[in-house]
Amino acid sequence: MSKSRSHANSVHDLFGRVIHINLDTGSMDQIHIDPSVYRRFLGGRGLNQYLLAKYLLRASPPEDSEIPVLISPGLLVGTSAPGAVRINVDSVNRFSGGIGSANAGGDFARAMKSTGIGTLVLTGQSDTPCYIELHAGQARVCDGRGVWGLRVGDATDTLQATYGHQCQVMCIGPAGESGVRSGCIIVDRSRAAAKCGIGTTLGEKRVKAIVAVPGGPSNWAHEPAEFTRLSGQLWNKAMTSPTASIMSQHGTLCGINTKNPFGAAPYRHYQDGYMDPDRIVQINERAFKQLEGRRFGPEGCPYKCRATYRVESGTYAGSQVDVIEANTIQDFGIKLDIVDPAAIVHAQMLCNEYGMDIDTVAETIAWLCECFEKNLITLEDTDGWIPEFANPGSLARWIERIATRKGLGATLGEGSYRAASVLGSETQTLVSAMKQQDLYEAVQIPRGYGLGAALATRGGGHCSGSPFTESYPGLVDERVGEAVYGVPTAGLPSVYTGKGKLVAFHERLHSINNALGICGFVTIWQRCDLLDLRDLAGLVARATGWDMDEEELAAAGERIHTMERWVNAQYADLGRADDYPPNRFFSSRVQRGPYAGVGLERMAFDEMLEENYRDHEWDSDGRPTRRSLEQCDLGEFSQ
Ligand code: SF4
Repeated sequence: MSKSRSHANSVHDLFGRVIHINLDTGSMDQIHIDPSVYRRFLGGRGLNQYLLAKYLLRASPPEDSEIPVLISPGLLVGTSAPGAVRINVDSVNRFSGGIGSANAGGDFARAMKSTGIGTLVLTGQSDTPCYIELHAGQARVCDGRGVWGLRVGDATDTLQATYGHQCQVMCIGPAGESGVRSGCIIVDRSRAAAKCGIGTTLGEKRVKAIVAVPGGPSNWAHEPAEFTRLSGQLWNKAMTSPTASIMSQHGTLCGINTKNPFGAAPYRHYQDGYMDPDRIVQINERAFKQLEGRRFGPEGCPYKCRATYRVESGTYAGSQVDVIEANTIQDFGIKLDIVDPAAIVHAQMLCNEYGMDIDTVAETIAWLCECFEKNLITLEDTDGWIPEFANPGSLARWIERIATRKGLGATLGEGSYRAASVLGSETQTLVSAMKQQDLYEAVQIPRGYGLGAALATRGGGHCSGSPFTESYPGLVDERVGEAVYGVPTAGLPSVYTGKGKLVAFHERLHSINNALGICGFVTIWQRCDLLDLRDLAGLVARATGWDMDEEELAAAGERIHTMERWVNAQYADLGRADDYPPNRFFSSRVQRGPYAGVGLERMAFDEMLEENYRDHEWDSDGRPTRRSLEQCDLGEFSQ
């Protein structure tokens, strides 16, 4: 490892204090992190996962109440780097037992960094409901009985009334308090640190919220001029990309039109990969404009791709949310065949207010609808209520029943993988889960996108390794694919060759983005003309004083990803068998649209898997070997 240059700030100043609170006793201590650990794991997801892995090594098997929840903005959060606004929350995964990881945008991450606390580690369980206040380098456990039981909006209002509107709040809702497995943490009222049930783990600890009260000394008061200069160039790069106008006008809703033509829409719970144009046009980004209010985004983001949505009339009058994502439309629109934007806004609002992951909830309800449609369950199983597609009233009812654990809702709140073991073996054939967590995506085509979702260390989803390159086939030609991603076929959606390697590249990139706190939409994940590893390494080097180059940064990404894979293998026994999508993706074909007749071939999928494992230098079961751990400078986990 190369030597560091001298720098105005110490590394500890830049990263902020690492505070551990033992909720059993209320005691606090500061964890000393060796600077070499920061250099190896960077911050955010990287540091959280390192501390989690060390904890598991020391304490296996851990008591449930002892499992830590780790909250950390990325390394570059608090700087002027474009898109450096994101926070990572990590713990053990309540679905798989392996790694749990969730990432959210909004203004909380910058507010937390400005308190001087860079990482919060919570262990144990409080006797009574509490929340954690972060301010001026200090953490305080406060009486949370006044906010426990409140929905997310009311809890946030109450805490902001106490601390003022400049404070930022992340909190859980009633679902996370009462043990719904997909309980999530809602940040700034509307961004979800959604996956892996980490909100429910926080609820088990009886922690309702974290409140960041800005106003302490900034870690970044002495930004070097060369950092500011590079950051300015990269803002320019981000703003001159066509992504800037698309994202700032439509946000992620623009993604709706990129998936359907590839047969990648999860229509009626994956019964087809394609939704008819005359239906999808009713819920695309233009259809939602009628409900759109103010467009906005966090300070520090070049695109500000969020918008408020409000329903003024009809059944759902008064429903409003601060964000609608492409996921929202795929989940409640395409997957459940609902083409009423107002009903979709209402469903998103319910999930936000109860604090539940929309992907898991929608997938479970869609699975239930298909089971009912195919007569695998009866009204006796469903408390007398009919679960059905294309029925907004049914959707809202089942969301409420899951959130409040009423009747069958309590079983559904466990996710479809576990609910199927209650509702009967025939229903298991329709479960679409990866690593026991409900799958959000259709994973047949594009090939790399599907592979990335299948391989996700935290369980099915596109934010861990899925490339977007295949969505721009004309843009990412052979030359660009090779030059930017190291894979000439990167832009070809139906080609299998090279996709294992392409996903490995993106697994490193996502690990790096989440460790730096950079939004993936400003990087070459989103489009080939955006921030690449060289740009990111330049920012890290100038911020820290380390002479880090893109190879060292890529090695850090590989290290974080390999460590997560090691934890999954070691503590949840996850391996190759857990990387295969559900059988229905191999046995069915897209039925309509440009890719009609196309399916996923098992042998070709096997080859993609092996190519991916080879790229990481893991064994044929997809488990890191002693040699690969040592090559990644993870020797402490190879014993
Ligand atoms: S691009 Fe969108 S998702 Fe990313 S940080 Fe900005 S507002 Fe958030």
